[in-house]
Amino acid sequence: MSPRSKRYWPVPGTEHTLPAGGEPGSFWEDRGDRRHAGLDLYAPAGSRVVSIEDGIVVSAGIFTSPDLFPYWNVTCQVTIAHESGFFCRYAELSDISVEAGAAVDGGEVIGSIGEVLNFSQVGAGSPPYIQALKEKKRPSMLHLETFNSVPGPDRRYLGGNWFSPERPAGLIDPALVLRGSI
Ligand SMILES: [Zn+2]
Repeated sequence: MSPRSKRYWPVPGTEHTLPAGGEPGSFWEDRGDRRHAGLDLYAPAGSRVVSIEDGIVVSAGIFTSPDLFPYWNVTCQVTIAHESGFFCRYAELSDISVEAGAAVDGGEVIGSIGEVLNFSQVGAGSPPYIQALKEKKRPSMLHLETFNSVPGPDRRYLGGNWFSPERPAGLIDPALVLRGSI
């Protein structure tokens, strides 16, 4: 990895809301049939999301949709190759303001937080962690994933979750990046 460039917090105003290990929304949280592939920063829908560092957008588009699970709304993701050599997927966004190939500056707005969960479709048959989010009235968040190699498609991955107990190669804990250890 190259020397670090200046870092920004991805959702200004949520600096003190980093979930601790094992807590809901933390990285690799055990959700029964799946593991959480990222880290969630809860914030109201419409909150702006900024690039944490300079970089190049490698992909941008749809992330979740009710076609996949009925309790999901349509949200988008932006994946950026950052200058320090790691990759970030910023997901569960309502709208995005960059497209693949674009150069972005650290601190630049790339989109805003969307409402990923459609509570009217969450019921007793929904996964327990989804029901817990409904109880806590937390329909909106930034779902952030970090990698040390470019993330490719994988049949074990869907909408921010990894459907296998083995952690995929290349996936790293976003808390390490956010705390500045990486
Ligand atoms: Zn998440």
